Amino acid sequence: MSRKIVYIVGLGHSGSTMLDLTLGQHSKMMGLGEIATVLNLGLDSIRQRDIPCACGNSLDDCHFWGNVAKILGDAPATSFQEQYQTVIHTAQSIFGDDCLIVDSSKGLASLKKISKLPDVDLKVLHLIRDVRPFTISYLDRMKRRKRKAGAQKNSGKFPRSLLQRYASYYFLVWYRQNRKIQQYLNGLNVPVFQFGYEELCLYPEKMVGKICDFLGVEKEAALLNWDKPKSHIIRGNIMRVNAEKWGIHYDNRWFYRKNWLMPSVLFPHIMKYNNAEVYKNTAGTVWEIIQSPVKEAVNTQQ
Ligand SMILES: [Zn+2]
Repeated sequence: MSRKIVYIVGLGHSGSTMLDLTLGQHSKMMGLGEIATVLNLGLDSIRQRDIPCACGNSLDDCHFWGNVAKILGDAPATSFQEQYQTVIHTAQSIFGDDCLIVDSSKGLASLKKISKLPDVDLKVLHLIRDVRPFTISYLDRMKRRKRKAGAQKNSGKFPRSLLQRYASYYFLVWYRQNRKIQQYLNGLNVPVFQFGYEELCLYPEKMVGKICDFLGVEKEAALLNWDKPKSHIIRGNIMRVNAEKWGIHYDNRWFYRKNWLMPSVLFPHIMKYNNAEVYKNTAGTVWEIIQSPVKEAVNTQQ
């Protein structure tokens, strides 16, 4: 019996937990968050942080992760691959053999390991967010971290800590990393569907339909209309435990900021790539919605 895994690959702050929670509402899918990241960190580390699962329970009380913790606790000295197989096997025994397991770990290193597992039926979703909100999101994270750490002590090695203050740095990281992901996926012999976070948020009906077609499942209304997650996500964005943020919604704070203007002028090749890759499934539609506030920002800047 092959194991059906849907792996979400992409950069941080790209909406992967939102996508994981959404897919997890499907009757034939189960969202388990960043499975590979949980295993890399170790369950003890997750337990110590005492952050609840999306189901509302602690790790040990969670119907799913509690079971995994028990099994892995009895056999701790196993490799990543063996632990991953234990997680998937436990998921199949609880949620059924036909259930598609969603892993939103995002990273390429984990994907490489998972793609080599035997009897795995792997499908990859490459989620890519517009470079401008991506940049604003990281700049804000940087500010929060600096505030937390005090006068920038231990905030990273020079010169990276200095570079991380500039929007251009995130434009370049975003471009390099997304191209690296695409190059890797091109050489990986598994089905891949690439789409934009903006496309998902602004055209959820259309995009959820396309994702379901790609995964070979019926489109269900529950994906767009839900008030409590059925997923077991113990590691991922904080929205998994914040009821106010459940569901597909667009974080548009970048419309009201201007930090991205300079790099968007400095790096036209990155903007060209952004426009082609983030909006390829909805070309000409989402783009107009995004462009009007952008033009406004440019006009007030001038
Ligand atoms: Zn749970």
